[in-house]
Amino acid sequence: MHGQCLCGQVEFEIDGSRFKLYQCHCSLCRRQGGSMSNAATIVANNHFHWLGGAELISSWKNEGRFRSDFCSTCGCPVPNPLRNMPYFWIPAGLLEDSGKLEVVAHLCVASKASWDSVPLQGALYDELPNLSEFISLLHADNA
Ligand SMILES: [Zn+2]
Ligand SMILES: [Zn+2]
Repeated sequence: MHGQCLCGQVEFEIDGSRFKLYQCHCSLCRRQGGSMSNAATIVANNHFHWLGGAELISSWKNEGRFRSDFCSTCGCPVPNPLRNMPYFWIPAGLLEDSGKLEVVAHLCVASKASWDSVPLQGALYDELPNLSEFISLLHADNA
């Protein structure tokens, strides 16, 4: 599946056609996405491929707890390596919408914005779940 930033210079591809997404409602993800939450998925390193624009990517890090990579031209959040794990974090809004993306979980629901009124479906976590268990959830049934 193909993905690109707003201006189209940062481009990537991830192997596969169906992906389970999550939305994180914490205050950092709200600022990163400029809205009530971000939406993302997590894929294994060997299923992720840059197609162009990697040299345009800037990075902001917060004491090892949060990282936001973005296109220096258009400011769009772009994929980044997941901590020290063999995975990439993929912002879902950059992916082509093939109708095969599904939100299965919401994180940090306990700290969502007071104006965040979308009914939440899927697995709800008050805070951040154990990352390894959570990745297993995202990848369940993904043949
Ligand atoms: Zn861009
Ligand atoms: Zn978050």
